[in-house]
Amino acid sequence: MTVQCSTCGEQWERDPALEVDCPACGADVGSQCRRPSGHPCAVHAGRDKRALREVAGYEQCPGADPEQSDTAVDRSQTDITQCSKR
Ligand SMILES: [Zn+2]
Ligand SMILES: [Zn+2]
Repeated sequence: MTVQCSTCGEQWERDPALEVDCPACGADVGSQCRRPSGHPCAVHAGRDKRALREVAGYEQCPGADPEQSDTAVDRSQTDITQCSKR
């Protein structure tokens, strides 16, 4: 899944947050975050912050507004519905 930051336009072939497992929902490396119901959801903020610390080359978006977004990059353009088809 390609992810693009809608704030600065930076693109990753694979969401850097998926390179670590999620402390919030327990999703494994490479797996989309899920709600308790099992439906895919947006990356949890804790996972994103972990990725910021642990994934080389992944940094807080210079244009992201921390007041408006829990995550380092704005993934609001990401089509998470495509993940549910896997
Ligand atoms: Zn950005
Ligand atoms: Zn999660």
